[in-house]
Amino acid sequence: MASLTFNQVYQRLLRQYGPQDWWPGDTAFEIMVGAVLTQNTSWTNVERAIGNLKQRDALSSSRIVAMPHAQLARLLTPAGYFNVKATRLKNYCVWYESQGGLSKLKRLSTEILRKSLLSVNGVGAETADDILLYAFDRPVFVIDAYTRRLFTRLGLVEGNESYEELRRIFESKLARVKDKVGVFNEYHALIVHHAKYFCRTKPRCQDCCLQHCCIGAVIS
Ligand code: SF4
Repeated sequence: MASLTFNQVYQRLLRQYGPQDWWPGDTAFEIMVGAVLTQNTSWTNVERAIGNLKQRDALSSSRIVAMPHAQLARLLTPAGYFNVKATRLKNYCVWYESQGGLSKLKRLSTEILRKSLLSVNGVGAETADDILLYAFDRPVFVIDAYTRRLFTRLGLVEGNESYEELRRIFESKLARVKDKVGVFNEYHALIVHHAKYFCRTKPRCQDCCLQHCCIGAVIS
């Protein structure tokens, strides 16, 4: 069975599902808030929490920093783990304000910005890369559990690589792509879609558009 290249997998998923229009959010700051809140919950729940912040006119870093913890946690209830997420979001906003906000952060190189994001308590590699790619338009490939599962089943990675190793593999395999930000944006969204509906924990290989080139396909 001939395996596809990373670029061919992208083309096939794009043909199958079309553009996913990620990341939902009206502003870069809203995208950042979504990235911080989306850990361990569905996007619908994140939207409800962001809706609460908007309703109180509190979707800004200064308002979040000024808000008492208990009030912020109440508004974030739909996103789950609301106490932890209130602390994380406040940490993020304190950092964001201390850095001078969007216009100053935009001037930083990707490497320095990534390092700075990772210094925020509660921001891990995946959240930092979501923010870099979707809020700052930086060419950074986001790795998540869906990506690891799909590409392991396809036989394109071992599956036991570290986050950074996987990110480096994707970025080097897609090094020749011209519009890296556009492709990385779409590719991650397509992987999430494919893994949610087809390459699930119990995969639906029978209906999968990648079945003919997947060494992990289980077809009865
Ligand atoms: S054939 Fe099955 S295991 Fe392979 S990508 Fe599709 S759903 Fe996943």
